[in-house]
Amino acid sequence: MENKPIARALRLLSQLMELHEVNPFKIRSIANAAFKVDKLPFPVAGKSFEELEKVDGVGKSIAAKIIELLDTGTMVELQELLAATPEGVVEMMGIKGIGPKKVAIIWHDLGIENTGELYYACNENRLIEAKGFGLKTQEEIRKAIEFRMASNGKFLYAQIEKEANDLLDQLKNLFPGALFEFGGEFRRLCEIISELVIVLGSRDQTIAFDSLLKSEILNNITANGNHISGEMPNGLLVDIVCVEKRDFYKELFLQTGNDEHVAAVINRMADVIDQPESEELIYTKAGLEFMKPELREDDTFIARARDNALPKLISYNDLKGTLHNHSTWSDGVNTIEEMALYCRDTLKLEYLGMCDHSKSAFYAKGLSIERVLQQHEEIDHLNKKLDGFKIFKGIESDILNDGSLDYPDEILKKFDFIVASVHSNLKMDEEKATARLIKAIENPYTTILGHPTGRLLLSRKGYPIDYKKVIDACAANKVVIEINANPFRLDLDWRWHQYALDKGVILSINPDAHRNEGFLDMHYGVIVARKGGLYKEKCLNALSLQEIQQYFNNKKG
Ligand SMILES: [Zn+2]
Ligand SMILES: [Zn+2]
Repeated sequence: MENKPIARALRLLSQLMELHEVNPFKIRSIANAAFKVDKLPFPVAGKSFEELEKVDGVGKSIAAKIIELLDTGTMVELQELLAATPEGVVEMMGIKGIGPKKVAIIWHDLGIENTGELYYACNENRLIEAKGFGLKTQEEIRKAIEFRMASNGKFLYAQIEKEANDLLDQLKNLFPGALFEFGGEFRRLCEIISELVIVLGSRDQTIAFDSLLKSEILNNITANGNHISGEMPNGLLVDIVCVEKRDFYKELFLQTGNDEHVAAVINRMADVIDQPESEELIYTKAGLEFMKPELREDDTFIARARDNALPKLISYNDLKGTLHNHSTWSDGVNTIEEMALYCRDTLKLEYLGMCDHSKSAFYAKGLSIERVLQQHEEIDHLNKKLDGFKIFKGIESDILNDGSLDYPDEILKKFDFIVASVHSNLKMDEEKATARLIKAIENPYTTILGHPTGRLLLSRKGYPIDYKKVIDACAANKVVIEINANPFRLDLDWRWHQYALDKGVILSINPDAHRNEGFLDMHYGVIVARKGGLYKEKCLNALSLQEIQQYFNNKKG
């Protein structure tokens, strides 16, 4: 019906008015008119003002708006309200289950300005603290956003890790005795997955192919050559490549590395091996040390593999402690003591670095100077109690617009270490954002640069920075760079780890935990760190308690 765009514009106008708390009577009449116009049995286009004002639910002032819309394609009032509303906030009003009133609270009280941040906040349990929100609403919003994200076909590694492994197990049950392995992005431990590739090597390729095609293991199954494609219930595309067992390792090699990598390896081979018995053999034949799947991006690590100088990649068990975490003192869910006991007894770690938000982060209950001092008393007390396990006094200090940190020096010097992060004014251009970070990096109290770009994967790009300048500044000022392990962040991006390591910069795998389960995100931090080629000697939180204590002392001294 031609009236749809008119109704939509009126509805948006009423929503924006509600968001900005314009006269409630007017809001109701415009919303009502939008509804009526949508249902009219005739188009409003071509009707005169006099005809329109007689329509039930329209009246003089709305008739004028409709005429304005038809004449100019918009309404001045709508444009003014749009200009006063961040684009992301308008977008949030389109999410199922939250109307303008809730969006207003999300925007003003929680400081959230787009869908990505909102999703992140749901996962951090931040919504339940806002007026009129409960656990149930938070969960509904989270689901609605996930549904939207899935519709563009891309998933975070963490979102599909379990489903992918379950699918592989199912396949193994279906074809006992066959060879199976993931290929593609998932096997390379990419942070974003757009397709799940599985290589299947069986004694009889045709039988396996046919029974897969008939199975209900995937939705919308189709066949193409020796590929079976389909979808998982969450919408992730799956591609199963069926080959004879003897061709398995060659196919696996071909399906794992990205195109540039596969080509680079093949180029080094005098003659191609037809049916290798392992992937190792392929690399040997190419004169290379075996390359773990996560390193098979482009030709980045090829020269090192040739020189037998690949790094011994970091593993989860190398981590001895965890830095950058939030407790109930700011926006976390668990107390410091609960977090410490979890780290000591469940995760078997040696130390915990607390980094609650600093005072500018008002939406996250950032700590005033007074509360910092109180928290330090609590930590001193707990450290006496915890017998060998150590809680370090840290803070996640906001980097202010001009690059300065959030407390005076007398307070900054009281911390064992400081993570400096940007949380506000994310829309700077590259030059300004880079200068802002560098100023913070040059601050003698900065120990770690937190989530360097502020990105939220699949939902917020993060501010543009000159990576080389920022990393060089960290090298010059002996500032550690965080690999934020939250699966939405994974920031510093793994593509820059080598540059940082080459410059002598140390990295730190920080979970940014806001509750005990959040510590487990270090798993995802380790995954991207491996992709970046990190090894334990260059990872801050792989230091033992004694070593890191020394490290902090040196930095401060
Ligand atoms: Zn942060
Ligand atoms: Zn944080």
